[in-house]
Amino acid sequence: MQHDGLVELANRHLWGHFTTIGSTVDGMRIMERGDGCHVWDSQGNQYIDGLAGLFVTQVGHGRRELAEAAGDQAAKLGYFPIWTYAHPGAVELAARLAGMTPGDLNRVFFTSGGSEAVESAWKLARQYFKAVGQPKRHKVISRNLSYHGTSLGALSITGLQALREPFEPLVPGACHAANTNRYRCSWCAGDAACTLACADDIEQVIEAQDPETVAAVFVEPVQNAGGCFVPPDGYFARLREICDRHGILLVSDEVICSFGRLGEMFGSARLGYQPDIITCAKGLTSGYAPLGAMIASDRVAEPFVGTGESFLHGFTFAGHPVSCAVAMANLDIFEKEDLIGHVQANEDRFRAALDDLTDLPIVGEVRGMGYFYGIELVKDRETKETFTEEESDWLLRGFLSNRLLELGLICRADDRGEPVIQLSPPLIAGPDEFDRINQILRTALTEAQAQVL
Ligand code: PLP
Repeated sequence: MQHDGLVELANRHLWGHFTTIGSTVDGMRIMERGDGCHVWDSQGNQYIDGLAGLFVTQVGHGRRELAEAAGDQAAKLGYFPIWTYAHPGAVELAARLAGMTPGDLNRVFFTSGGSEAVESAWKLARQYFKAVGQPKRHKVISRNLSYHGTSLGALSITGLQALREPFEPLVPGACHAANTNRYRCSWCAGDAACTLACADDIEQVIEAQDPETVAAVFVEPVQNAGGCFVPPDGYFARLREICDRHGILLVSDEVICSFGRLGEMFGSARLGYQPDIITCAKGLTSGYAPLGAMIASDRVAEPFVGTGESFLHGFTFAGHPVSCAVAMANLDIFEKEDLIGHVQANEDRFRAALDDLTDLPIVGEVRGMGYFYGIELVKDRETKETFTEEESDWLLRGFLSNRLLELGLICRADDRGEPVIQLSPPLIAGPDEFDRINQILRTALTEAQAQVL
């Protein structure tokens, strides 16, 4: 079908996620194919995929190995559940993941995606504490502005008020504490060194809730929403110590920050902390098939091993044979092409390409690590003054989103916190892609600042 027909049908029938209906008729881009770091739309326009789809396509687009792995598995065993049964792909993938995770995170519970993994982690924490004789522990603490998914449990953990509001009342027992926004930290932004007051704030929320009712703390290694907040040195050591002192599980939500995004298989390994549970999805299959996982430590799994007690939870499509086969082939590519080594070797060049933009007055800060960066846009760099809601709306949705696409760059222009542009390219990206990203951002930001500063 041609572009115009697709747009007309999409406008009539497709319910885009987090997308307004009917207002994007002319501007709607329909992506048709991809190759490496690039995708093409139904009108033949080429884009550099600076967001890896949605922090997903680690190995890049158009990988025949992954298509073949999916096809071969579908022909052999297209579907079977992992309820009661197992299939070789789920078993082998679980063992492979257990071999890659930090410490004793050896028990893999598959899901269909990230929200289900987060939902599963909260439910496991609750059932675990009932099983070990601490039935009062059911609450979770997460951080302001964080995004942990959209199902009601995961949304309750999510700290973005605008996303929560239409669905309130949410699941009781989810509380929020400070994030690690050092650029705008109310405690120590002006000081030479961070005081870790942001970690201590989590403890204060735990204490206010009665520590014996708290089951888990959910955090991302580098928080996505708000624009790639990198934790200060010592943050995770302090947080681990706080959780241990209060007998609370530390859940590392690595739906974005695993599978090489931060330059290690798992973000917690890059930042040097040991979680009790990891949640992951996205890059596990590079998006060629849907799959997520919740990976629990031996201690957390113990009440369910050989005791006759089962975790009363599951999803029909979790651990789907086709998705597991794709994940195995995806991890083969990671090994064969040393993608982790590639990110480690190139992350400084990527950062330099973004830091180069700091001569533009509209650029307040560049932050992130690995292949995961946010650029915060400001009205006044000296005072860090941010834009008003209307200015931000025009800057991001009225101008930058479309202009960046016109210039051929897919990235994210977001103001769930302060206005930021986020970059998270496929892990195969290198200096050529960084240069192109730099050029397009420079053009678009120069035009934007001429209109708003
Ligand atoms: N957790 C984090 C940290 C995420 O970034 C996301 C999605 O972006 C989710 C959970 C939810 O994942 P999904 O959209 O696959 O349900």
